[in-house]
Amino acid sequence: MGDCGIFGIYGHSEASVITYMGLYALQHRGQESAGIVSSDGSILYHYKGMGEVRFVFNEENLRKLKGSRAIGHVRYSTTGTSNIYNAQPIKVDLLDGSLAVAHNGNIVNAYSLRRELESGGAIFHTTSDSEIILHLISRSKDRDRVEAILTALRKLEGAYSLVYLDEDRLITARDPCGFRPLCLGRMDGVFVVASETCAFDMVGAEYIRDIKPGEMVVISKDGIESMMIHKSVSNNLCIFEYIYFSRPDSCLEGKSVYQTRKKMGRILAEESPVDADIVIPVPDSSNCAALGYAEESGIPFEFGLIRSHYIGRTFIEPEQKTRDFDARIKYNAVRNLLDGKRVVVVDDSIVRGTTSSKIINMLRRMGADEVHLRVSSPPITHSCFYGIDTPTRKELAASSSSVEEIESFIGADSLRYLSLDGLMKAVGTKRGKHCIACFTGDYPVPIPEEAGKEALEKVISRIRLF
Ligand code: AMP
Repeated sequence: MGDCGIFGIYGHSEASVITYMGLYALQHRGQESAGIVSSDGSILYHYKGMGEVRFVFNEENLRKLKGSRAIGHVRYSTTGTSNIYNAQPIKVDLLDGSLAVAHNGNIVNAYSLRRELESGGAIFHTTSDSEIILHLISRSKDRDRVEAILTALRKLEGAYSLVYLDEDRLITARDPCGFRPLCLGRMDGVFVVASETCAFDMVGAEYIRDIKPGEMVVISKDGIESMMIHKSVSNNLCIFEYIYFSRPDSCLEGKSVYQTRKKMGRILAEESPVDADIVIPVPDSSNCAALGYAEESGIPFEFGLIRSHYIGRTFIEPEQKTRDFDARIKYNAVRNLLDGKRVVVVDDSIVRGTTSSKIINMLRRMGADEVHLRVSSPPITHSCFYGIDTPTRKELAASSSSVEEIESFIGADSLRYLSLDGLMKAVGTKRGKHCIACFTGDYPVPIPEEAGKEALEKVISRIRLF
């Protein structure tokens, strides 16, 4: 399902409005679709649509989401096609009542689970992993809903942070590796859950703690109950959440993302100094790292690139697009600032290398004398199968090219990456404590279908035919 955002609240008279606000704060985690399911204790109400939260919801449809319990979702797809059927939360009616689920992460054994369910007669309406979970629950022999969910979750391999809602319970769970973040908070005496703490700040909730890897928490009128899905758990929160994905005003594992990114920049400056006149970020995702680099190096920080916040769909011919159109519509350089300067440009990551080469080209056109690229993460050599949207291995610049080759491809005077040890130091972690598979290829959960994404693509293309 990808790196999405989830939110839930139990027992508040304004449940759907608060969920809507929470989704606003999590919008950076997915802009493809948004949805809310609410419950008044006997009926589940549902509304979802394509696009950003502000376009999907309005006063009228929010008013129809009645009840004091709600869950919400913003989607950033990495598996499953982009259409309304795959938008979440997904709601189903089972024999003993209704159930809705919203999911963040990728299930790596989704393909085989789906084949098994289909051969047993299951009919799927979506191509998302989340529907698999609902089928597993509906087919469970456990009569108790909580037991049925536990049994279903025990069959999943990979990454999931989830919220479920039925008529009278909100259930939240995190996979045994804890790949994707999930935290618990409280407001006005009721419990809230969210992918990131910035959503708590938005709704005025207080952070209590992270949901533990492998933990399932049931919130009902009887209070809150915690249980473990698996006995053996590890802590493998995705390190890319610190580098790029989470908002800088969030805390992960009690640590400020902002300060951690600044440390990455400081360590990068220590490891790879360069004589230059200004340090500039590629806004907004590398602002904190660039600030750290500037502070440590003593080189003045400037906003040499200005980012447009109004990019939507464009209607430009492919031919025009090839002339750096994508980069120019997103960023422009501040000409007078750059003229004749030796510039250090800090970015948080290089994936394919297209952003860097276009930005370097733009900075030179605008008069920069030298352009040194500093990247506040190590080279990405492997694809992510747990929810971050990375392309196939062969498309990753660092999977087959050396740093020198990338330096020459993107046209930088010099290119340096943060070392893996430097990254660990900034995050305050050690090997085995976070998922760093995109930098090492050491996948904490084996990928059963070799190149799992390709296998899923087969399912998806088969479904598109119908
Ligand atoms: P690329 O142009 O393919 O090298 O992508 C690098 C740029 O994409 C960097 O500026 C990052 O901030 C940004 N980035 C990194 N990871 C992701 C992701 N999963 N989704 C969207 N953008 C990303």
